[in-house]
Amino acid sequence: MKESQYPPKEDELDRLDLKPKKDFAGGWDAVNSSLKTLKKNKAILRGIPASLKMNQKQGFDCPGCAWPDPDEERAMVEFCENGIKALAEEATSRKIGRDFFQQHTLQELSQMSDYELSQLGRLSEPLYKSKGELKYKSIDWNVAFEKIGKKLNSLSNPDEAIFYTSGRTSNEAAFLYQLFARKLGTNNLPDCSNMCHESSGVGLSETIGIGKGTVKLQDFEKADCIIVMGQNPGTNHPRMLSTLQRAVRQGVKIISVNPLREAGTESFCHPQEVAGVLGHKTQLSSIHLPIRINGDVALLKAWQKLLLDKEHERGGVLDLQFIQNKTIGFTEFKDHLHHVEWSQILSSCGLSREQIEEAFQVLLKSKNIIVCWAMGLTQHKNAVANIQEVVNLLLMRGQLGRPGSGVCPVRGHSNVQGDRTMGIIENPPADLIEGLEREFVFTAPKKSGYNVVHSLQAMHEGVAKVFVAMGGNLLSASPDTEYTAEAFRRCDLTVQISTKLNRGHLVTGEEAMILPCLSRSERDRQKTGFQKVSVENSMGIVHSSQGGLDPISDQLKSEVSIVCGLAKSTLNEDWSGFEEDYSRVRDKIEKVIPGFEDYNIRLEKPEGFYLPNGVRDSQSFVTTSNKAHFTIHDIPKWDLREEQFLMMTIRTHDQFNTTIYGLNDRYRGVFGGRRVVFMNSQDMVKLDLDTYDEVNLLSRYDQIERVVERFKVVPYEIPKQCVATYFPEANALVPWDLYADKSHTPVSKSVVVEIQRK
Ligand code: SF4
Repeated sequence: MKESQYPPKEDELDRLDLKPKKDFAGGWDAVNSSLKTLKKNKAILRGIPASLKMNQKQGFDCPGCAWPDPDEERAMVEFCENGIKALAEEATSRKIGRDFFQQHTLQELSQMSDYELSQLGRLSEPLYKSKGELKYKSIDWNVAFEKIGKKLNSLSNPDEAIFYTSGRTSNEAAFLYQLFARKLGTNNLPDCSNMCHESSGVGLSETIGIGKGTVKLQDFEKADCIIVMGQNPGTNHPRMLSTLQRAVRQGVKIISVNPLREAGTESFCHPQEVAGVLGHKTQLSSIHLPIRINGDVALLKAWQKLLLDKEHERGGVLDLQFIQNKTIGFTEFKDHLHHVEWSQILSSCGLSREQIEEAFQVLLKSKNIIVCWAMGLTQHKNAVANIQEVVNLLLMRGQLGRPGSGVCPVRGHSNVQGDRTMGIIENPPADLIEGLEREFVFTAPKKSGYNVVHSLQAMHEGVAKVFVAMGGNLLSASPDTEYTAEAFRRCDLTVQISTKLNRGHLVTGEEAMILPCLSRSERDRQKTGFQKVSVENSMGIVHSSQGGLDPISDQLKSEVSIVCGLAKSTLNEDWSGFEEDYSRVRDKIEKVIPGFEDYNIRLEKPEGFYLPNGVRDSQSFVTTSNKAHFTIHDIPKWDLREEQFLMMTIRTHDQFNTTIYGLNDRYRGVFGGRRVVFMNSQDMVKLDLDTYDEVNLLSRYDQIERVVERFKVVPYEIPKQCVATYFPEANALVPWDLYADKSHTPVSKSVVVEIQRK
């Protein structure tokens, strides 16, 4: 039995220290933590000057999340604590190359924690591990490209290759990467969106005709109420707190819906305001609803039923004209709601009628409502239903496509939305294929490719033989860690295009390669001069990004250069024109992807430009009926036995996706460790468990038992029979083949587990 990828470490377990949770985010601690992070990463000299360019017009885009920058004036400090952590990761002066890898086998390195691996520094030269070899050795770039090209061309079928993309990849690199894969003959283009907002894309496209949010930053101050569902902005999108604070100061009401009461939705001390640094809190959410895990459909139906009752009672509540003219399916939807029992609603969401009604009164008084969400809605078996019930609620009063109203799925990675717009998708729309064939004169593959979960399956079953990753750490991000690790081991070749070492580099195919690339904050010099790239944020704004730091090594290549190198060695095509001048890539994007007219000209605008959005721009719904769709979904039923719990995996405040910046989760009061399980104190009593007790967690699915060992019990404000753990440590409990209907997103937010005393 192979050793677990995330075995318990004695020293980490002993170090765990618990303190009271915080009831506010930001403040002096955020400033202090940012400075400490730069120092810890030896990034003071490179990080501080770079930070003054981060998210600035004509600067570079933060490599963290996808929260937008203001269209107007930017603050001198236009970043948050976690933006600095993301920058420090890449602006560190530490680097590792051939000498370091000559001293360490992959097995030895895999004994290090993810945090220790990320502290090693930037990858400084291309590396290769041959079959049977235990260590990486340095390799020449051209030799590396030749080897990959030879392997790809030796495949009996292009679908034996998989091309994964993480959300940091720029538009230009993503466009060329998908073109490369399709020219090779495959649509195997899984991306990190498959594991996060795929459910948002599917749920929204079906009902309102666009898989993206429909609001701008300005709408937040025009709203009357903002509902934050299944999202922890204080950690995952911290600058959103400034937007929420401005909204609250305009009298906007905020309702947070989350099993956990997160500091970031309770109150905020703005670290760029003297009062904030001195601890003056702005209360954000006026109502917090501690919903049971996966209770969102029930809560949304409750509000919908109450709206119907009010309409029946006094009229003038629903926007009947909007419903009449702009939607279909209302009658069936209404009939369905009449048959939904309150008992079902209350048992599913775990809230009292009073709690639901109190929030409903705020909604009822609110003409304009914005609903924001993240993984808490998208990583469930019924995730698409979660999203579509949000749409149902807003359609009832025409709260879509008007100022101050709409949907706002908040993307977790800086360009994950842009990559999808560039064609990084396993089932490409016909117009994309037609555009590519017309512009590049080739026959593109039509058969759908693999998304993430099916890529894991194809590698595990030996159907896929080559895995190439443009950034990211799919091993740690994926569900079912041990299954995923075995899938990678069964590949002939794994290639990782990365800035820093992570666990995904240590679990490899027979042959493995690491191709070190420039980071977002580094200068990208090509034959025609310094190049800029472009990205798209959560609100559909495309803007430029141009790093200013000297590359940490002269052995690095840009993502665009690497794809052009692969095209030469694999397709025997000369893409040097694209490599020399990225505006030529944008000229092609303009011809293939709708909405990018005058791309290079408009990219010169300091604030960038908005992509077309039918709902936002003209309340038009480009669906199969050209109307918005009301949909009908069942309330999920969880018949948990006494000893069973619903588990959700979450991030700490010292984490960005799978990158571990540190071992603390300051807002939740957890310090020095990550192997914890947050439990309701009454559930602890029932299981006769105390704080710090060690337990194993076990999940059973499809006759397979999955276990993670030695987690420490932490009492926390969480609904009964619900527990929370951190990923990637608990990902091993999430079955790879248990995923959301339609979107195939792993169900990391609702896994049935048992807790066994150690
Ligand atoms: S909110 Fe997101 S994009 Fe903005 S600075 Fe923080 S991590 Fe970066």
